[in-house]
Amino acid sequence: MTAPLSPEAAPPAVATLSPSESVLASVRESAERIRLEPEALELLKTPWREIRAQLPVRMDDRKLRIFEGYRVQHNGARGPYKGGIRFHPRADIDEVRALAMLMTYKCSLMELPFGGAKGGVMCDPTRMSETELNRLSRTYMQHINMILGVTRDIPAPDMGTNAQTMAWMMDAYGQMHGYTPGIVTGKPVELGGSFGRDQATGRGVAVCMREYARLEGIDPRDIRIVVQGYGNVGSWTCRIANEYGFRVVAVSDVKGGLANPAGIDIAALDRWAAVAGSVAGFEGAEPITNEQLLATECDYLVPAALGEVITGENAGAIRARVVVEAANHPVTPAGDAVLAARGITVLPDILINAGGVTVSYFEWTQNIQQFRWALDRVNQELEVRMVAAFGDLMARAAKDGTRARQAAFDIAVERVARAIRLRGFV
Ligand code: GLU
Repeated sequence: MTAPLSPEAAPPAVATLSPSESVLASVRESAERIRLEPEALELLKTPWREIRAQLPVRMDDRKLRIFEGYRVQHNGARGPYKGGIRFHPRADIDEVRALAMLMTYKCSLMELPFGGAKGGVMCDPTRMSETELNRLSRTYMQHINMILGVTRDIPAPDMGTNAQTMAWMMDAYGQMHGYTPGIVTGKPVELGGSFGRDQATGRGVAVCMREYARLEGIDPRDIRIVVQGYGNVGSWTCRIANEYGFRVVAVSDVKGGLANPAGIDIAALDRWAAVAGSVAGFEGAEPITNEQLLATECDYLVPAALGEVITGENAGAIRARVVVEAANHPVTPAGDAVLAARGITVLPDILINAGGVTVSYFEWTQNIQQFRWALDRVNQELEVRMVAAFGDLMARAAKDGTRARQAAFDIAVERVARAIRLRGFV
């Protein structure tokens, strides 16, 4: 957890919030605004089900390593549980719980017929071989398959996992239950994945930025963006934002950052990163550190990597007008309070990065129908849903005089609560 600047800047209670408590803080605030009945709030406070599994994996050096893995199913009132699986050293139970909660509200905000879940394994996939990752993915699936199902819980990729991980998991599930492509989304296209799923999260981010620019009445060519993270989400955000005309003036990944006020040539950067394995060392821009990146002067700052990167400590240094939350939970409540006080707009994660789960929904429906959509159709349907959700959220914020995150949670919590009531849970 991050410490506040000083006790005055943020009360200790805020500073000590765990990731799941931070998400819950938004839900509690929302519950007050929408006058949610206390019993419904009680149901939303904790996940419906959590499993922790011991995952023994024989490593390439023949030694046995025991990993710890989780699947958290937060709320299933609106449909089967949905959410990715994270392989990361920081993917502990509380982090996974927070991410599962965010999935409940993300699916609700996007009107997808899903509840929210998340999985995680505490490991460092960058230090594991392909065969080790294959064994870990299968072992994880063997230990959680009993709570999954095409109409029960459908995992997907998240940080540290990708289409290959989903292929191994689908195969492991198939060995136990028979061929079941709809058991995971984000699969390789050859194994029933959807066209456009790999770029979907970044596309959703870029569409929202384009819509926000339209709202501001500014041409994207006059908007400078800074993107933290050049993985799946960050890199596709840069590519598609660039197509819309936005100028990418700084990017970074774990190995370092780059800045070029005139705009980075994204196609050239991609060619470099494909060979170097990182954006670091690219000659078309000046090297900068991650702290410098966050403090780079720009219009839209896009954290697209880890959670909790903008905190009570560094939010004062941000020199952007708008923070676009492409990552899940990149701003702590203390950071959010500082940004609000400084008049910086925050476009919330449950809208901004929802393009991924939206195309996961399309993939799931295609699998159930044993049918395939062309890429154009996927992108067009994604666009329609992102634009509609963006418009609804902005209209609600304007009507209620709330910030975008508050409006997003108000809409999402209301819908979940309606499903809870209709099912007769309260
Ligand atoms: N992991 C992604 C997210 O955080 C996608 C989840 C999914 O496709 O189910 O939204």
